[in-house]
Amino acid sequence: MTIANLIATVDLDAIAHNVGVLRARSGAEVIAVVKADGYGHGALPVARTVLAAGAQALGTASIREARELRAGGIDAHITAWLHRPDSDYAGAVADGIDVAVSSPRQLTAVIDAARAAGTTATVTVKVDTGLARSGIAREEWETAAAQLAAAVAEESVRLHGVMCHLAFGDEPDDPHNDLQAQRLDDAVADLARRGATPRVVHMSNSPAALTRPDLSRDAVRPGLALYGYSPVPSRGDFGLIPAMTLETQVALVKKADAGQGVSYNHTWHAPADTVLGVIPAGYADGVPRQLSGRLQVHIGDRLFPSVGRICMDQLVVDLGPDGGGVREGDRAVLFGPSSAADGDRVPTATDWADQIGTIDYEIISRIGSRPQRCYV
Ligand code: PLP
Repeated sequence: MTIANLIATVDLDAIAHNVGVLRARSGAEVIAVVKADGYGHGALPVARTVLAAGAQALGTASIREARELRAGGIDAHITAWLHRPDSDYAGAVADGIDVAVSSPRQLTAVIDAARAAGTTATVTVKVDTGLARSGIAREEWETAAAQLAAAVAEESVRLHGVMCHLAFGDEPDDPHNDLQAQRLDDAVADLARRGATPRVVHMSNSPAALTRPDLSRDAVRPGLALYGYSPVPSRGDFGLIPAMTLETQVALVKKADAGQGVSYNHTWHAPADTVLGVIPAGYADGVPRQLSGRLQVHIGDRLFPSVGRICMDQLVVDLGPDGGGVREGDRAVLFGPSSAADGDRVPTATDWADQIGTIDYEIISRIGSRPQRCYV
């Protein structure tokens, strides 16, 4: 196979380990969130790994993502929770996807699809308990609950789950978490009174799964922590292992005279004679352009600063006057798990996020399809 310039190496054992951490700390079933191509790690390999490691089910945003998993041979339970009016409800029913509904309209669409196919749809009720994003709104609850109870009674729908999503999961002590839990419990009790009892109730994302086991109910729904990043860094790393290493080789080593401007618009000039290294990774690979002048690349056991603008496909590092002993072809790591070995620490995706004022979720999920995935 022709090798890509940039490789995202994914350590599947790390992901399996992280499933174990989540199961142990939450005390609940794990619904592994593999949306956005497994947060950039590859939805199918991640799905196979988490299921083998003891996760009970998978979660995606769209029906399309869920159906891609089915097409890839995944027969585990999959819940998909974000739909547009013209989403493929018929396909979801045909593939046995659990459709999490956020309105009476969505419930009607699923019921219609099930009736048309002469089958029973599997449904999760997604309640808006305070995030004010997707989920059944309070003013629509009565309509949705009555409709659901009728559909369960006539067996066009099997109620699998009741879920909500937390607004302050990453602030474990915030009272909104308890308020949302209370509202979810009330919704479950209301449905039970109407004869509709779900198999699983869940609300916890990664931070809640790791820090608030009292919120776990039957299952938790972690994403970020599966991939090894601490969702509440102030409480430590929870023993999670980051799975992705973004790495390449030094493409070119070249001299630059003092005063030489580097990369587009010469935003950096060599202060003295120096040696530059060209790294074949750029913003089309998910390396944020805002990291220009801040990114550090780990080569050998040392960090070298990127200089000048990060371009679409490449960036330049200053190797210093003696070239730092770096040669073309040397392994260059952009981020990965930080080892405590001798030398400089490998930057993490969290370091990148902190440097540009975003979150590691955005860094990893934006490593698009261009870097080649390599599974170890
Ligand atoms: N559940 C829902 C509905 C989500 O939208 C997400 C991600 O945004 C998750 C669970 C997983 O969250 P996290 O990655 O914080 O664990």
